[in-house]
Amino acid sequence: MPVLATVLGHPRIGIARELKKALEAYWSGATPAESLLATAQEIRTRHWSIMKEAGLDQVPCNDFSLYDHMLDMAVTVGAIPDRFQKIADPLNRYFALARGVQDRGADIDLSPLEMTKWFDTNYHYIVPELDADQSFVLNPTKISAELAEAQALGITPRPVLPGPVTFLKLSKYADDVAAGLDTLELLPRLLPAYEELLALLAGHGVTWVQLDEPCLCFDLDPASQQAYRTALTRLAGGAKRPGLLVATYFGSIGENLGLVTDSGCEALHLDLVRAPEELDGVLAALPAGMKLSLGVVDGRNVWRADLEQAHRTVRRAVDALGSERVMVASSCSLLHVPVDLDAETRLDAELKSWMAFAAQKVAEVRLLADAAEQEEPQDAAFVQAGAALARRRAAAAADNPAVRHRAEQVTEAMTRRGTPFAERSARQKRRFDLPLLPTTTIGSFPQSREVREARSKWRSGALDSEGYQDFLRAEIRRCIEKQEKLGLDVLVHGEFERTDMVEYFGEQLDGFAFTQNGWVQSYGSRCVKPPVLYGNVARPRPMTVEWSSFAQSLSKRPVKGMLTGPVTILQWSFVRNDQPRSETCREIALALRDEVADLEQAGISMIQMDEPAIREGLPLRRRDWPEYLEWAVAAFSLSTAGVSDETQIHTHMCYSEFGDILPSIVAMDADVLSIESSRSRMELLSHFRQYGYPNDVGPGIYDIHSPRVPTVEEMTTLLGLAAEVLPAERLWVNPDCGLKTRGWPEIEASLANMVQAARQIRLRL
Ligand code: GLN
Ligand code: ZN
Repeated sequence: MPVLATVLGHPRIGIARELKKALEAYWSGATPAESLLATAQEIRTRHWSIMKEAGLDQVPCNDFSLYDHMLDMAVTVGAIPDRFQKIADPLNRYFALARGVQDRGADIDLSPLEMTKWFDTNYHYIVPELDADQSFVLNPTKISAELAEAQALGITPRPVLPGPVTFLKLSKYADDVAAGLDTLELLPRLLPAYEELLALLAGHGVTWVQLDEPCLCFDLDPASQQAYRTALTRLAGGAKRPGLLVATYFGSIGENLGLVTDSGCEALHLDLVRAPEELDGVLAALPAGMKLSLGVVDGRNVWRADLEQAHRTVRRAVDALGSERVMVASSCSLLHVPVDLDAETRLDAELKSWMAFAAQKVAEVRLLADAAEQEEPQDAAFVQAGAALARRRAAAAADNPAVRHRAEQVTEAMTRRGTPFAERSARQKRRFDLPLLPTTTIGSFPQSREVREARSKWRSGALDSEGYQDFLRAEIRRCIEKQEKLGLDVLVHGEFERTDMVEYFGEQLDGFAFTQNGWVQSYGSRCVKPPVLYGNVARPRPMTVEWSSFAQSLSKRPVKGMLTGPVTILQWSFVRNDQPRSETCREIALALRDEVADLEQAGISMIQMDEPAIREGLPLRRRDWPEYLEWAVAAFSLSTAGVSDETQIHTHMCYSEFGDILPSIVAMDADVLSIESSRSRMELLSHFRQYGYPNDVGPGIYDIHSPRVPTVEEMTTLLGLAAEVLPAERLWVNPDCGLKTRGWPEIEASLANMVQAARQIRLRL
């Protein structure tokens, strides 16, 4: 049997973001459920047909989702918190879990489930919420329907499921469940639902199921290891079931290998882009008969594969195992790359010849599988790929030596503020004279239809630059007026000139390129279009100074200058894979350092360097953390530490699980840190207290991922909790994140409540 070709999953959003548009139309009430479901089916059909025509031997199915695959699994095993049961319609219940609902008339006001980052990606999953006595009841509606659709197309679908251990490890208990319980304790209750599902799929003629167990790439405690032993052997022991491919990705399986090889499962997938060194050990340890899926085509980046190198890897596996035991695959799901490079008509032709999106990666996988039998593949596609790679290397070598030279000259002193925080803080307090619990926002205000229309008119030439700038100035003015009226203490300009917090900077820096359709799902209907960082990074001219100065000229209150931090720019771009990420990050940091200096020079007194992605970049394995954190913190500090004591550096991060990296966050030494915390009910603040976080903190008290308006009481409760764990003198009051995705009416109502909440707490203190 020849080597098989497969991928672990396909992007869902559609080449023209059809899913996004259909979702938003449905949510707004503009279209009925039928249109949404029809669009979803069209997208699935199209993607399956593409993969089938490209010759994939096994095609993923059930990797599609209307919102999120973890939420789908929660629904599939009946893990829906009771409070949502009062929503009768399953589709609306599903979206309520994801987004919350507020229907005053029907007396329904439900906050959504928590959402958090999927491993080290910028994809966010919905965190299933479980009860201590959770029961699991199989509801195979979605998976059965998608399976039937796929089979009707004549393909060999391989349903994808989050595996049971990853599912539980990524879930959480409801807030009222006693602390200290491990969700893995629910495994014995959960496994029967999986067994039932596998039997059902086998009954439908499914021969392979892909169990996604990326948690196998974590350092596992003994309880988790035991959970894997129990789960995998039990599922493998099922009498009537499909073959089980246990998929690991985003890191190395390392010492957890035995948990899979001893389980009786039929196949293992490795991420050989992230952990190429792993192959030989695995080849030696694989039990007779077990198949190996080689993740050699990068599912996380947009570069063409080094086919020669990947081919050598495939050959090694074939030599050791025989071709019938080898599959060639993407390293992880292609969810994390855009759909099709062919849709890009404006990319520089040379750069484009270095790149591959999902469609091209599917072809690479096929090509590698076909070439597996050949010692030296002569296929024209191989030759072309090799030539493109050689040209890319030559171009990089000749890029911008001045940038590389400057990066080499960075000293430790450049990454430290001259004065300790306490002293800086005292000076800043004198300079700004703010009330206790100062109120502010994270930066962006609605990217309304008018804003987007003006921008696209300007881009197409229908509006000249002057007209566009006038429009933006008017928006900024309106935004400043509204903030003053709301009574906010520290203002922002609103970020109307930015489509996206990374793209905006990438567009003004050397070394970046942009796609037209390179969208990648971030959560639900939200997509991002990561820039392609292909060369040395340099800043030809100031990027934000004019807008910030203009905004500051409109108010006596401080208006924060807004920048995106080096780690976030790195993390949310497709970056070059021909030099270490740390080096690329330092180049970005130097460009930002110059921008900070220019802002300060222009009289901007507070500068916010957003780093929402710093935690997301953490490698899965703890042994790799110190190295990452060291260069990431150094890059942030390099970009911000050049200012005087009186200039206040803010930073913002949008996640809540960073208890374990607090020392690094302390080392960043921002004067003020705003964080997302409302969905996790301030859980994280206790970490701050435990660790004694020394600088100012603004815990988000208004969840901006949901359209609901938080009440004053909700926010005073959260603030009260915050004031119990941190001294009020060091607390700020702000939403969880930027407001660009929200509408003005809900924002004004919410911010008015937020300011009100701050005032009430001030009176109590
Ligand atoms: N300043 C950015 C905004 O307000 C921060 C966004 C983010 O943290 N993701 O939109
Ligand atoms: Zn944020």
